Amino acid sequence: MTGASRGIGAAVAREFAAAGDRVAVHYGRSREAAETLVGSLPGGPHVAVGADLADAVAVRAMVDEAAADLGGLDVLVNNAGIYVEHSIVSTSYDEWRQAWEQTLAVDLVGTANVTWCAVRHMLERSSGRIVNVSSRGAYRGEPRAPAYAAAKAALIAFSNSLARALGPHRIAVATVVPGWTETDMAVKSLAGPRGDEIRAESPLGRVATPADVASAVLYLASPEAEFTSGTTIDVNGASYLRL
Ligand code: NAD
Repeated sequence: MTGASRGIGAAVAREFAAAGDRVAVHYGRSREAAETLVGSLPGGPHVAVGADLADAVAVRAMVDEAAADLGGLDVLVNNAGIYVEHSIVSTSYDEWRQAWEQTLAVDLVGTANVTWCAVRHMLERSSGRIVNVSSRGAYRGEPRAPAYAAAKAALIAFSNSLARALGPHRIAVATVVPGWTETDMAVKSLAGPRGDEIRAESPLGRVATPADVASAVLYLASPEAEFTSGTTIDVNGASYLRL
């Protein structure tokens, strides 16, 4: 479970633990928050494992540590992500390139690397579930963060590709696509002058809670969900509908 020390990741970790699963709570920098979460989860034993997702060597060590501590890996949830603003109208060329590099390194390449490492452990058992957390911005566009939208759209194509590649190994791969969700990533926008406008995007008049997203992740990770492999579930309160 990547990026699990807070936000959507922490909610997903809580749901898995409540369902009786053991969880490896991955963190980037917030070791203390991850350990506090581990200590608060029911069941277990759970573990906290750290790695900067932009560091391919650290990623491999982190995934192997998680698999060793848990005695194998049944489910991988690729949740960690960053959102860096870089409007094409106002950023310098240096800022623009930096934002693209940073965003792709974590949201796309980091996720691909975690997945490669985790799949090694799933292939040993010929079973597994992978759930990738994308974003509504993949469809609707992110005018202030095009690299984020591009990475999240690529993540859907990545999921689709792996669903086809890993089906013969009984590993199902699917994507959850949240809209605005009440977490640290969104708190500034939701509390600011655009907050009401953002909530009004959904006919339900609110944004998602981390628990809304976690329910979809739990379903896709369940044994019953094998035949949904390749699907994408929108969790955006009908704020953006597609055929
Ligand atoms: P968040 O910022 O609270 O959590 C992101 C997590 O990713 C954090 O735990 C952070 O430590 C981790 N992370 C970031 N960079 C990392 C790195 N280099 N190495 C390791 N870990 C790193 O945000 P959240 O809202 O909980 O986001 C979870 C996922 O949901 C993200 O992929 C995000 O893009 C997606 N999402 C969020 C929203 C929203 O409105 N909050 C909407 C759509 C999609």
